[in-house]
Amino acid sequence: MHEFSLATNVLEIVSEAVQKAGKEKVISITLEIGSLAGIEKEALISALDCMSEPLTADTKFEIVDIPGIAYCINCKKEYPTDTLYSLCPICQGYEKQIISGKEFNVVKIEAE
Ligand SMILES: [Zn+2]
Repeated sequence: MHEFSLATNVLEIVSEAVQKAGKEKVISITLEIGSLAGIEKEALISALDCMSEPLTADTKFEIVDIPGIAYCINCKKEYPTDTLYSLCPICQGYEKQIISGKEFNVVKIEAE
């Protein structure tokens, strides 16, 4: 359940930002999660829900999905992918760089 440690990180980032801004209550948190980041969104949300502190008691969690995109080293084309183990659909090459899809970021915190 690494979602629990991710949730802990998120809440740390959020409470630090909120304290710095002198706010008391978090209304919503927007997270960016890449489809290749290996994160179970439902598990993360329920981890966040059950860890909720007074600060985030009524917080709404929003998730922005980032699609996976790989760059084929062999034929130098980009292609969409849902897994790290995909083959290039054009040349069947395996060697690739992941261009996007590994994101895990807190992108927005709304507080009052
Ligand atoms: Zn290729």
